[in-house]
Amino acid sequence: MDYNRLAELLFPDVTETPADMEAKYPSRQLPEGAKVTRFAPSPTGFVHFGGLFPTTVAERLAHQSGGMLYLRIEDTDAKREVPGAAEGLIRTLARYGIQFDEGAILNEQGVVADHGAYGPYKQSLRAPIYHVYAKQLVREGRAYPCFTTEQELEELQQVNKKEELKNTDWEAQAQSKRAEMLKNREFTMEDVEAHLAAGDPFVLRILSDGDPEKKLKVTDLVKGNMEIPENDEDFVLLKSDGIPTYHFAHAVDDHLMGTTHVIRGEEWLPSLAKHLQLFRYLGFKVPKYMHIAQIMRLDENGNKKKLSKRDMGANMDDYTRMGYSARVVCEYVMTLLNSNYEEWRMQNPDKPYTDFPFNIKKMSVSGCLFDFNKLNDVAKNVISRMSAEEVYAELTDWTKDYDPDFHALLAADPAYATSILAIGRGGKKPRKDFGLWSEVKDYMGFFYDAYFTLLDTIPDTFDKQDVKAVIEQFKASYDESDDMNTWFEKVKTIASSLGFAADMKAYKADPTAFKGSVADVSMFLRVAVTGKMNAPDLYTVMHILGKERTFARLDALLTTLA
Ligand code: GLU
Repeated sequence: MDYNRLAELLFPDVTETPADMEAKYPSRQLPEGAKVTRFAPSPTGFVHFGGLFPTTVAERLAHQSGGMLYLRIEDTDAKREVPGAAEGLIRTLARYGIQFDEGAILNEQGVVADHGAYGPYKQSLRAPIYHVYAKQLVREGRAYPCFTTEQELEELQQVNKKEELKNTDWEAQAQSKRAEMLKNREFTMEDVEAHLAAGDPFVLRILSDGDPEKKLKVTDLVKGNMEIPENDEDFVLLKSDGIPTYHFAHAVDDHLMGTTHVIRGEEWLPSLAKHLQLFRYLGFKVPKYMHIAQIMRLDENGNKKKLSKRDMGANMDDYTRMGYSARVVCEYVMTLLNSNYEEWRMQNPDKPYTDFPFNIKKMSVSGCLFDFNKLNDVAKNVISRMSAEEVYAELTDWTKDYDPDFHALLAADPAYATSILAIGRGGKKPRKDFGLWSEVKDYMGFFYDAYFTLLDTIPDTFDKQDVKAVIEQFKASYDESDDMNTWFEKVKTIASSLGFAADMKAYKADPTAFKGSVADVSMFLRVAVTGKMNAPDLYTVMHILGKERTFARLDALLTTLA
């Protein structure tokens, strides 16, 4: 067969050569060890948690090594394209610390546009580039056209499927597939000319030289050393519309765009032999591969299941709705990604997660477990280390969209809100009252009269007259300028004067000798002022509320005791 002639017949308009492509897209000039990684989504909807995960790895490896991260849109399946999905995806990822240095990124109008010298970054715009390499492969007798129409192929597949169901003799099945494939290889130049003259569409297939009996040795940076069978399938490189399959586009794009590390889901592992074959045929240097395991979750019965699209926590936009700070999500992703992250965090409570030396070797090989309880724990820790001002800024950003009434109160007096949010912050053991913005109202709503209600009541076991006396004496002795110690001494004095133990040790030694303890006396005041048994430090609360509001609440409780 005259392959040059075949190549000209199939790609008459392609005049450029691979050498031209190499000249157009020269190797990147980057410092030694700098990694070039990418995110290559097929944007059809929201960003999945399982998508953020490998992307964070890509981002960390790139930026930690002085390299770069780029975004390539893999829109070769036109049927699945969703308008606006790419823009949404970029915005969502940006929230979670994923900043692209290059690629299809947002321009000033908020529309995806190319940025960088290795574009176009949308695969649907790269057909001429793929065709250069396709033509070359045909010229070298490494690829051939197959004029079976898509409809014929589909019909054939249906028949095959039915056969497969009946036929459990895998060996026979493989043989019949192979026979079918070999049949495709048999054609003459005249056949091709006749088909082309008739305007018949064709797909371009690789002419595989693989032998599945032979094994390829590969190293995956996450999974380790592996042996995989060679590919013997004449898989499709170009579909009948001239658009490449994932396999072909992956090889051409990652080569020309200079990707050093291909970080992708492990669902691509079974295709790896195809990719290695393509890199060999095309004479490209093989990038390093990292196949990341699927994120798992536990179902009701405690069994591990894949975190699917419909599961709670899968859609990254849900986190915003639920009230998780993006910082929390990033922190959680890091705890999942590297087993030594939490230890590092304990030693470095205030550093940004980007200071952590991310290590590929500390990644889980078998897959991480997504767990809301753990996420909520991380959330409380992260928020407890933020400053009151940061909390206020993020909280109001969230309430603006998700709780406008609360937002109005917070925004009306930022200084008041910030002083509330400052309670228990700083120091070695900051308070961990909330982890989600949606939990804040429950925690601090009582500071606002509009939300103040008696959620807890003083147990009936206490004499109402005693409660009344505590409140009255407290009011009489209250001086806003007292420091915390003096304030508490006064509470103790009230306690003993009414037969409650001022000293907890004495109370514990003989509880029957007292009506209760100073803790109970404080509880009366706490319930009156905050409506709750559990609230932050009462001295501070009263100072933030101010004397007037504090007294109004104490008086309100008195009226219920009359
Ligand atoms: N478009 C592919 C996907 O979304 C990309 C895989 C890769 O990163 O190479 O699964």
